[in-house]
Amino acid sequence: MEKIGLYVHIPFCHSKCAYCDFSSYAIGNAQNKIAIIRYVKALLKEIDLYEQTLKSVEVETLFIGGGTPTCIDGKYIHEIINHLRKSTKFSENAEVTIESNPGTITTEKLDHYLSAGINRFSVGLQTTDNNLLSSIGRIHDFNTFTTSFNAIRESGIKNINVDIMFGLPGQTSENLHHTLDTLIELSPEHISAYALKLEEGTPMYEAERKGLIQMPDEELERTMYHEIINKLKINGYYQYEISNFSKKGFESRHNLVYWKNKPYLGLGLAAHSKMEQIRFSNEIIMSRYLERIENGEKPSLDQTVISDSEDLFETVILGLRLNEGLNIPQLNERYGMDFLSENEAVISKLTAQGLIQITGDILKLTLKGIDLSNQVFLAFMND
Ligand code: SF4
Repeated sequence: MEKIGLYVHIPFCHSKCAYCDFSSYAIGNAQNKIAIIRYVKALLKEIDLYEQTLKSVEVETLFIGGGTPTCIDGKYIHEIINHLRKSTKFSENAEVTIESNPGTITTEKLDHYLSAGINRFSVGLQTTDNNLLSSIGRIHDFNTFTTSFNAIRESGIKNINVDIMFGLPGQTSENLHHTLDTLIELSPEHISAYALKLEEGTPMYEAERKGLIQMPDEELERTMYHEIINKLKINGYYQYEISNFSKKGFESRHNLVYWKNKPYLGLGLAAHSKMEQIRFSNEIIMSRYLERIENGEKPSLDQTVISDSEDLFETVILGLRLNEGLNIPQLNERYGMDFLSENEAVISKLTAQGLIQITGDILKLTLKGIDLSNQVFLAFMND
């Protein structure tokens, strides 16, 4: 049985953050119950439409993402997971994660999550500074975060990720250190740290275009990134991926499915899948997604067959994101090739530039290569 990662998208949030271009709809505090009920019903039907696929695989990881999955009633999440468990085989030690936002978690919801077998939480904090949180349109303040974090911990969950951001307009080094110090004290098992990138069409993108806000320059952003790496390292978090840090044994197994270019199936609005070297994604417009499923049709858009050389390229650039790097003999076996000799020119060039290094069987980015990772990926792409 092929082992896969499963992703389920819940495209609802209380309100939209000012930087967000994810597929999510603001439902407000009153909650648009009818829209949620119709969506959950469609999702359950989509699971049925994938009956054959789901019967032939084993689910090693399930990630319920969004949006904010915890902003809808806990019974819906419970129902979705129960339906999946009836439709497919879960590995005995499957990692089951739910993405959450502070202020959206209640004791009743936690009961549902735990009964459904959720064993990992990912909580979006971003920063401990309340002014910054409000300036980027987050619905919560820092106190709300700690209340939610403690409630999750007290429920017995032993694997929590916290998302933070750096490079926010007006963010200082002191602010970043305060965020890191506070987090280290709370001791989550995993921390993701992403630089804010402004996406076209978002309110913050427009504000920057009009000169109303100013993004930090590249140098300050890089300095912050290095400060995060250093501080987390001396406090027991090892960097296993460019933007991800964990205590040993608490790496995100679901994200490792993506980074190791293994198969995954995405269910829900705009979800992406890659199964048997075929890539496909779901409808991105809610009305079309619902209509197609209600008509008994899978909601996927165009399928792309990935050639062996494209698959190899993806495995290389995704694998280079990992601190463990690429295992060359494994790569040779997976693709029936001699990777080093077939890519000799680009490997020699990047090695001479100090961007990659080969130690024994492992090819990985150097520290300089991590900073200039896009340059490395482009070099492999153009090779
Ligand atoms: S909570 Fe996440 S998905 Fe929802 S609007 Fe904010 S950034 Fe987007």
